[in-house]
Amino acid sequence: MVRPKTSKLKLQNRLSEVNEIELLNSWIDSGKPDSGTNPLSQPHPPEKGRIGRLPDGSFSPYSGAEKFTQLPLSKKTKDGLTQAKYSKMTDIQRASLPHSLCGRDILGAAKTGSGKTLAFVIPVLEKLYRDRWGPEDGVGCIIMSPTRELAGQLFEVFKSVGRHHGFSAGLLIGGRKDVDTEKERVNELNILVCTPGRLLQHMDETPNFDCSQLQVLVLDEADRILDVGFKKDVNAIISQLPKKRQTLLFSATQTKSVQDLARLSLKDPEYLSVHEESETATPNRLQQTALIVPLDQKLDMLWSFLKAHLGSRILVFLSSCKQVKFVFEAFKKLRPGIPLKCLHGRMKQERRMGIYAQFCEKNSVLFSTDVASRGLDFNKAVDWVVQVDCPEDVASYIHRVGRTARYLSGGRSILFLAPSETKMLEKLQEKKIPIRFIKANTKRLQPVSGLLKALLVKYSDLQYLAQRSFVTYLRSIHKQRDKEIFDVAKLPIDEFSASLGLPMTPKVRFLKIKVKDKKVSEELTLVPESNAAENRFKLLKETSGTGISDEAELHTEGGLSLKMVTRHFGKDNTPDIRDDVPATRVLKNKKLKINVGRPAGRHVVFDDDDVDGSDTSTSPTKLANAQTWSDSSKLDKDIVNQRYTKLREEVTGVDEEDKASYRQHLREKRIKQKMKLKRRRDEKGEGEGEGDLSGSDKEAPTGRVSKKSKIYLHDSEDGEMRQGTRMSTDSITLAEQEEMALKLLSSMHS
Ligand code: ADP
Ligand code: MG
Repeated sequence: MVRPKTSKLKLQNRLSEVNEIELLNSWIDSGKPDSGTNPLSQPHPPEKGRIGRLPDGSFSPYSGAEKFTQLPLSKKTKDGLTQAKYSKMTDIQRASLPHSLCGRDILGAAKTGSGKTLAFVIPVLEKLYRDRWGPEDGVGCIIMSPTRELAGQLFEVFKSVGRHHGFSAGLLIGGRKDVDTEKERVNELNILVCTPGRLLQHMDETPNFDCSQLQVLVLDEADRILDVGFKKDVNAIISQLPKKRQTLLFSATQTKSVQDLARLSLKDPEYLSVHEESETATPNRLQQTALIVPLDQKLDMLWSFLKAHLGSRILVFLSSCKQVKFVFEAFKKLRPGIPLKCLHGRMKQERRMGIYAQFCEKNSVLFSTDVASRGLDFNKAVDWVVQVDCPEDVASYIHRVGRTARYLSGGRSILFLAPSETKMLEKLQEKKIPIRFIKANTKRLQPVSGLLKALLVKYSDLQYLAQRSFVTYLRSIHKQRDKEIFDVAKLPIDEFSASLGLPMTPKVRFLKIKVKDKKVSEELTLVPESNAAENRFKLLKETSGTGISDEAELHTEGGLSLKMVTRHFGKDNTPDIRDDVPATRVLKNKKLKINVGRPAGRHVVFDDDDVDGSDTSTSPTKLANAQTWSDSSKLDKDIVNQRYTKLREEVTGVDEEDKASYRQHLREKRIKQKMKLKRRRDEKGEGEGEGDLSGSDKEAPTGRVSKKSKIYLHDSEDGEMRQGTRMSTDSITLAEQEEMALKLLSSMHS
């Protein structure tokens, strides 16, 4: 009896959906904005009650709409938006939705934090809904993100706004092992939110993986995805997608490259750049400052900054994974008084997910590579973005600082520039970035290099991290494209090494090697101090064009892979987050000479540590690298060992002194307490001998029940058990103690 009722209801629903879709299609068609116009400049549409089909059969215009309810959207999407508390549109939403809803290709550019996500989530949902997309139709839409964290965040927005729709959606990102389950289900998904590496893996490996019905392709952070780092993967992906589709590209730093657009076969895209006329390229509520900090004082400055902002949520950018790890581990041991976290591409996926979620929840410091620079929303609540290392270019700067001051909130950023990097300031100002230059207040600087030195002596793993941090930083500078700003030769390498707490500068040489008569090709090389000519270690970077490249990283990534599939919006789904890209672009490999003539040190061979790459915990690279270190010349080893021994002695001496003075301090405190107590008793006329609070036998007044009665035993050097010195007067023998213990036991039993 119930069944007919249910089917009747379903039929009714279907019919009302059909009617709604018919109405939406007519509305969209009749009210389309003209191509090339900006809906933001259109007059506002009518108020409530006069929206949609009007009594005379015509439709209200939707170009110029200010609220989501004034757009031709399905009830399901509108309900989702209302529940997620979205009602007024942001500028990029107002400008792009009228065009995207009628199926046009979009090139959308708007500042960070201005709501670009909804500008593509809504048209995707609406397109599939109006096409009555169902499980049997397969993949209808693909959204690509450059990082796993961002993909996870986009997926959450789909789940939230699309909660009333019945589409199945999947998050396909690297870092998870259950790719087989994913392969079984991926063909049933309607919406794929993914990173390029993982998507390509499915295209290559999943039987019958079919995208031939794809309706909409979205590239979030489009300029990044079209960048050289993803080129190979993205080209391979696009070659497998149908040409007849809608393509939506969004970024705060949008590509205008004709080549990029040709690769994507865009059809007369609408270029909507809502802040082009704006005086600034960054959010208005963002206060930006820059200051010159010598490379060897950057950690002092960072430490001082953190100590001065303990109640804030701070995102700190460094240029490589190794730097992130080192600074995080070292600062953690120094206990700044605020929780510290770190995020980089070499962490296990689950940890990354956890860290990301924790940072969204709680005031803390997150040290990160550029893996966190794009798109992440962090619950709108980052107070400060600190760039310890100079960003590779203006776009990278804009995205990093864009992690704060999102939507309507304010935020602050600070950029540390080494003296050789001051040109960056001009470049930022040229690109409409209102950055205030301030002078560093060195009086309040709290130096940490001394503390780091002591830490490195104590913790050998930290020593290793410091060395790697040093090397990867120099390499990241060497790899930068913009040679006007980044010049290894101008860096105070020895001072920088010392500032990390290293007892001596790891030796790093960039050698120019002429390859026959050809143009100089460049290669990173480290050469042993002794016979450099014969023993030139081959660096892991070859000149042949197979050096570290973003593409190579991606392939490694694809192999690891990830994933997680969710079916139907609103169902439980944990985002799987992780990036697929290194932080820095790759240049042609070069041979280059770093510093000759510094004190003899260890010879370092560069390994494959990229600026922000994949997990190397068990990689051959790391093992090879470890090997290299242990193979360093004997001479160097001896010198280093000697230095460490000396440092260890120094630190031990200081440690003993500290302990002694602390003991003395405690003793004095106890005496004071005792005297005070005694005075009080005397005043009250109390008798002595009521007990000793001192805990010290020496000062214990005679006649009291003191700690003398405790028994201290320890092993004597000759192996005999004997009583401690405190037992010298009223000592008892072992036999007596046993007897006492037996008595005690028997009395308990009785
Ligand atoms: P972008 O991609 O431009 O950097 P996001 O799409 O991540 O920005 O949005 C930034 C923040 O603004 C998010 O927290 C989002 O929830 C919020 N937001 C976006 N659109 C609206 C809106 N129309 N009303 C209120 N908040 C919005
Ligand atoms: Mg975004």
